Amino acid sequence: MEKKQNQRPQQSWLNWNTFFWVMLLLLIINSFVYPKFGQPTVKDTDYATFISYVDHGKVNKVVVKDDIIYFTVGKEQFKTVEVDDPQLSDRLLKAKSPNKSGRIEFTKTLPQKNSPLLDFIIWWILPALIFFGLWQWGAKRMMKGGAGGGGFLSLGKSGAKVYAERDVKTTFADVAGQDEAKETLKEIVDFLHNPKKYTRLGAKLPKGALLVGPPGTGKTLIARAVAGEAHVPFFSISGSAFVQMFVGMGAAKVRDLFQQAQQKAPCIIFIDEIDAIGKSRDQAMGNDEREQTLNQLLTEMDGFDATKGLVILAATNRPETLDKALLRPGRFDRRIIMELPDLEGRKAILQVHLKDVKHSDIDLDKVGRATAGSSGADIANIVNEAALRAVRLNKNEIDTDDLLESVETVIAGEQKKGAVISPEEKRIISYHEIGHAMVAACQSHSAPVEKITIVPRTSGALGYTMQVDAGEKHLMSKEEMLNRIATLTGGRAAEEVMCHTVTTGASNDIEKATQLAREMITIYGMSDKYGMMQLEEVRNRYLGGNTSLTCSAETARDIDKEVARIIHEAHEKATRIITEHKAEMDAATAILLKKETITGEEFMKVLEDNSPEPVAE
Ligand code: ADP
Ligand code: ZN
Repeated sequence: MEKKQNQRPQQSWLNWNTFFWVMLLLLIINSFVYPKFGQPTVKDTDYATFISYVDHGKVNKVVVKDDIIYFTVGKEQFKTVEVDDPQLSDRLLKAKSPNKSGRIEFTKTLPQKNSPLLDFIIWWILPALIFFGLWQWGAKRMMKGGAGGGGFLSLGKSGAKVYAERDVKTTFADVAGQDEAKETLKEIVDFLHNPKKYTRLGAKLPKGALLVGPPGTGKTLIARAVAGEAHVPFFSISGSAFVQMFVGMGAAKVRDLFQQAQQKAPCIIFIDEIDAIGKSRDQAMGNDEREQTLNQLLTEMDGFDATKGLVILAATNRPETLDKALLRPGRFDRRIIMELPDLEGRKAILQVHLKDVKHSDIDLDKVGRATAGSSGADIANIVNEAALRAVRLNKNEIDTDDLLESVETVIAGEQKKGAVISPEEKRIISYHEIGHAMVAACQSHSAPVEKITIVPRTSGALGYTMQVDAGEKHLMSKEEMLNRIATLTGGRAAEEVMCHTVTTGASNDIEKATQLAREMITIYGMSDKYGMMQLEEVRNRYLGGNTSLTCSAETARDIDKEVARIIHEAHEKATRIITEHKAEMDAATAILLKKETITGEEFMKVLEDNSPEPVAE
């Protein structure tokens, strides 16, 4: 993520663009100095032919110029290279000619030589002047800022994307869910519409608001929507664009941006990835360029007149790294949280994106549940994948199946066609997946199994069991977490019990189970020994959440032991469940092997049909 900073100062004018134009100019100059274009064609001949023409009295005119002999025979023009021939003059004087005078017109012109001074000016001074002029001009543009787009010469353009979009079509209707965010931003829209209403009472509106949330939750989208709703220009720039530029340019660009924006006010400035410049200044690895840029931003934010209707929106997914000065009142003092959408939110986002495609009646609830944990951008992607799939299958509309299949594509990768898996391997994979499903189904608190498949995926998964929570989950109890861990170990347990082997297929399960068990102890306070003591600190909450231990090495060892114990117990439980349901395991695996994919209902039916007693514990 971290962009390379502290770049060598580049000379902005020395680029291909400039080179091209200078070369073109030189070419034009050249063509004026040697105007050879547009002359009648002159045929090349050898000297002997020339002499033979002269001797036969056919030549009208001879001109010797720059060691080349031009001569005309009738209407035709010829040329030949002058040979050191002392008798040439004699010959020409004596020769006959079709001319009236009976003589050949015969002249020699002096080589037209430029004076050395002129040559020098044309070839050295002029290009240098042109070059210098272009440079000056570019530099001036750079100072004024390239905002407003590049001209025909993109000299001195910093590469930062700053342009004002005048007619933003996005509105709040395009942003599904995120109702709290919209509520807060509506005030800003209202302010942009009618600043006087607020200033009349002396109310100060926020100059800036910070949109915080994981990637793809629609931060950019909602910022555009504010501009669209308020019918004001939308300036958009990415924070990283400020710092990857030439040294000293970041601050200039900020100055520029605000100057431009103030002219166009009311308007909105949107700074994406503000953490790229707004990083806390006291962090170990200082970066002068970034600090200068940040300071300039702070100055500008303090300086501008908010009553004109200039609002700055910034987006970040790492709010904790931001410099405190940025968050002070009068700067980005409002924080708008954009969370990952919940079930209702996902359904709403689905609807928004389904509007753009042809689709049949979609089971929104089913797709919504299957996309748990997805961001708005993921869902947009899923709808697009579904459309692609429908096209591939020559369908007229997208249906629920396309969407569900593309959910899997986005989550697990494309189905891998033609992967050769031996029957024995297939058998083990089937038992493994049925093992997960069996353990999940036999624990009353586990989510029902949605689908089991042994179709390999390009992501490397050889098969998988898709579990979908019935409703939206916000809390998970300790018991549920333990059950989930048991379900994760179910695959390996099935391999052991049913196939008497262990395979590498469980690596992903192991990773997930270990992580869950660890979180139970260190983050959720679910261990008996340490209780509610925080043992691990979560950083980057909106970017996957790195954690770091906050306890002593001794405690860390204890945690490891505890994690091992939890997983071991879960594994034993899973083994017990599978041993008790061997008959159902065999039956379900046989069906899975035949069909490759079975639904949760089909699986539960096999369970019921083959179970001697009711399934639930
Ligand atoms: P962010 O800036 O938070 O990373 P974006 O605003 O760039 O995310 O979102 C990327 C895309 O995801 C949007 O263009 C839109 O298609 C889709 N999207 C994200 N959130 C929503 C939402 N709440 N409603 C509709 N579409 C959304
Ligand atoms: Zn597994």
